[in-house]
Amino acid sequence: MIQQQVLQLLEKEAPKLVGIETREVCGMILQHNPKRAVSSGAKVDSASIAKRPCFLCKDNRPAGQGSVVWNDDFEILVNPFPILEGHLTIPLRRHEPQRLMSYLNDMADLAKALPKFILFYNGAKCGASAPDHMHFQAVYAGQTPMENGKRTPSQKRMKKFGSISELRTYIEYWQDENYEQMINLFCKYNEVEDSYTFYLFERRKHRPCIYDIGVMISPGALDMAGILVIPQLEIFKGITHGIVTRIFDEV
Ligand SMILES: [Zn+2]
Repeated sequence: MIQQQVLQLLEKEAPKLVGIETREVCGMILQHNPKRAVSSGAKVDSASIAKRPCFLCKDNRPAGQGSVVWNDDFEILVNPFPILEGHLTIPLRRHEPQRLMSYLNDMADLAKALPKFILFYNGAKCGASAPDHMHFQAVYAGQTPMENGKRTPSQKRMKKFGSISELRTYIEYWQDENYEQMINLFCKYNEVEDSYTFYLFERRKHRPCIYDIGVMISPGALDMAGILVIPQLEIFKGITHGIVTRIFDEV
């Protein structure tokens, strides 16, 4: 069983979540996580992307890093810079741009194979630090304010869908094979009811204005789900309800 293999891989390779502080502001969990500076500060313009070796391609990964192959197409890896417990990165086994539509069914199938986890997808221009290489991520289910039904500033624009056909009908209105709107998407398989829950966030902007003045906040799916990742300590300490609200009104 795939999930068992993944749990063993996590036990062997998952870094401890140390050096992380949290505090709550308006229902959201602010997380000071200095190791995420690389990801939050990543240059994702096409020129910078073209210049760096892709860290999701097998040839460029550290030797000895374990993985679990799923369905021939995807490989499940332990995320070296976790935000939450059980953080996985799930790249496609070939270098292809970050696009959801062709792999939406895989996302649902993978969520079913990993019922202890919630899967998520960061669109190329709203949270993915490898927009040139198709990948999903996952964390252990139940850790986010979103899943726990909390009302937070990031939740205002969340849409929930109970099946893949319902979701597909909705998103096919505004995207096709050549165009993808900015989205963050979660998929959870519920074993007891044999059903799915999808949480969709339609994004307006990659990063808030304050990013340009040095505030390293670069929201992806987990931030939209209520875990606001802040690599800089002084920002973590100083951020207020008003700033959090403004960030999520913007992105
Ligand atoms: Zn790649």
